[in-house]
Amino acid sequence: MPRVVFDPERCKGCGLCLAFCPTRAVGMDEGLNRMGYHPAVLLDEAACTSCAACAWVCPDLAVEVYVPVKAGERRAGVG
Ligand code: SF4
Ligand code: SF4
Repeated sequence: MPRVVFDPERCKGCGLCLAFCPTRAVGMDEGLNRMGYHPAVLLDEAACTSCAACAWVCPDLAVEVYVPVKAGERRAGVG
């Protein structure tokens, strides 16, 4: 599973996630969604650190971020 999943049909192409991504892992798709916007996409998965900045700034809740957890690892706030 990719670290970040953008919902193309919720995205209005504002570019905030692209502007706030510290590793420049986000870009805009060349295609259009049903509303006529170029939706955000994860261009460089290897560069993504799952920092979730893109999800925090998205005004349309179009971004889900997944944090890889190794077997046996415990993360703060995750049980
Ligand atoms: S989770 Fe962080 S590094 Fe990954 S795409 Fe979003 S802002 Fe960029
Ligand atoms: S911040 Fe949200 S609405 Fe704006 S381009 Fe990114 S995913 Fe789309």
